[in-house]
Amino acid sequence: MIKEQLCRTRFAPSPTGFMHIGNLRSALYAYLLARAKHGKFILRIEDTDRARLVEGAVDKIYSSLEICGLDHDEGPDIGGPYGPYVQSERKDHYLPYAQELIDKSEAYYCFCSKERLEALAESGQIGYDRHCRDLSPEEVEARLAKGEPYVIRQKMPSSGSSEFVDEVFGRIVVDNKELEDQVLIKSDGYPTYNFANVIDDHEMGITHVLRGSEYLSSTPKYQQLYRALGWAEPAYVHLPLILGEDGKKLSKRHGATSLEDLLEAGYLPEAIVNYIAFLGWSPGGDTREIFSLEELCEHFSTEHINKAPAVFDYNKLAWVNGQYIAALSPEEFLAAGQSWLKEAYSGLNSENEKILAEILGSRIQSFSEIPEKIAFLEARPALTAELFYNKRQKLDCNLSLRVLEEILPELESWTEWEREKIHTYLMSLPEQLGLKTGQVMGPPRLALAGQKVTPGGAIEIMMILGREESLKRLQSAVEFLTEESKNGRDD
Ligand code: GLU
Repeated sequence: MIKEQLCRTRFAPSPTGFMHIGNLRSALYAYLLARAKHGKFILRIEDTDRARLVEGAVDKIYSSLEICGLDHDEGPDIGGPYGPYVQSERKDHYLPYAQELIDKSEAYYCFCSKERLEALAESGQIGYDRHCRDLSPEEVEARLAKGEPYVIRQKMPSSGSSEFVDEVFGRIVVDNKELEDQVLIKSDGYPTYNFANVIDDHEMGITHVLRGSEYLSSTPKYQQLYRALGWAEPAYVHLPLILGEDGKKLSKRHGATSLEDLLEAGYLPEAIVNYIAFLGWSPGGDTREIFSLEELCEHFSTEHINKAPAVFDYNKLAWVNGQYIAALSPEEFLAAGQSWLKEAYSGLNSENEKILAEILGSRIQSFSEIPEKIAFLEARPALTAELFYNKRQKLDCNLSLRVLEEILPELESWTEWEREKIHTYLMSLPEQLGLKTGQVMGPPRLALAGQKVTPGGAIEIMMILGREESLKRLQSAVEFLTEESKNGRDD
């Protein structure tokens, strides 16, 4: 019986300083495939572009993966049998292969100066003109001996075609004449991304390469390297583009484009992961849209990745996030959203934060809605007569005044401020006053909030504001309504 090869996937980010949504999706799918197949998920840092290094960027990669729960099995921070997992630390792994390719006549030294290459590009030449491809071995020797700077280029076949089957995009055939003699080793001795990536994937035993479809067109070149080195190729899984709703490539114009932006906008990591999983993949016949990471691991397969571009729908993300927020316990809500609450309401304390968590939990789709939802706690909007008018409840300024004049002295006479006690008292009033519950609970709520729509009712708002502030607001509403009724404006 042939033992099935253990699935090994990798996430190979370049440290750019932030986690773009597209990169996060590549990481997620690579993670999910490894978990679905009980394989290994590897993290490799691709930092061969020394000019583009950003400080702290590698830590950002670790923290992003950790926040999203995408734990890797091998990587720079935890090691593994195929390390090092940082390309710049693998510098001496690449040159011997480049040398092997030169010996096999699959690569060559190129001494072309920057100026020559620039002039070439300006002349309209597409790609390298293979100027150094057929230098005699003697000339190459002599120039190397003189210490002339050089790069090593891949010698592409000049006839035939390259063909591969991508698990998402299907069969792809490219005429070899179209393949450029790409640089493998740069003049600084570092490999290019295109070379290092193939060597590393092979040395690390990667079985499935998952990455954005922008790499689809380079894959024939990688394939030529596998062929030249006599290696078996991995399975290719290129992921669809991610577009904004206008059909253009997702960019800042559309909204948040990185994990950092989304977290800052008040989305939960679990919801982001859930939403991003669906950016190009669906669970087949299953119509559910809320999947935990564990459930995604169970259901994921490359078969249901769609090659059509995925559209990033911010409203849908908000809906998914709302589902996750609503499912949080008040403790979890506070753990995730407390900083938003603190910033929005200076009166926050260990008592009222729990009530806020309760009343906001099912009413927001993102923590960023908190400031707007509870602004009335910080400063009550000015009262208006219209506020107390409700046709359906047969409520107006006069009735509101009557109710508040009943409530205020009673509450003022209390020294303690207890939810149960306020509840029992207010609930006894409708019968006592011959009014409907809404007619009794409405006026204090409106008086306290200064707005018609509020998260939570009168009792919750009283508990959040506390005794002193609540009485002050009720008192000022009585004054306002007294004034209104004197002016007879309520008829
Ligand atoms: N370093 C490449 C990037 O950040 C990775 C591409 C790949 O996964 O092969 O886009």
